[in-house]
Amino acid sequence: MKKRTVKLLLLHLLAALCLAALAGYGCPSYRLLRLRCPGCGLTRAWLLFLGGHLAEAFRMHALFLPAPFCILLLAHRHTPPVQAHRRLATGILCGFFLLLVVYHLGRTLLFRR
Ligand SMILES: [Zn+2]
Repeated sequence: MKKRTVKLLLLHLLAALCLAALAGYGCPSYRLLRLRCPGCGLTRAWLLFLGGHLAEAFRMHALFLPAPFCILLLAHRHTPPVQAHRRLATGILCGFFLLLVVYHLGRTLLFRR
């Protein structure tokens, strides 16, 4: 196996371990500062969704479905497949970021969740 492939596999393994650790620890922002971040509820929403509770999952975090895709897109934005469609990727990421900000402000200011 090429050295670059091993490095990429190790990076992906490290990222998966970090995500698993964060899922077990909970949101660092909420744990340390008691402030909900825009991603608060994503893990719980996915767990609800995987358990078959679609409505509760959307109530927990309405953007839980596109979030993993956008995280992957953001993490791989410098790879050749994404670079080939850079404008589309940038548009998707900017749109998702804008939605996330609006959603976060809405649920924080209006619903206090
Ligand atoms: Zn959070």
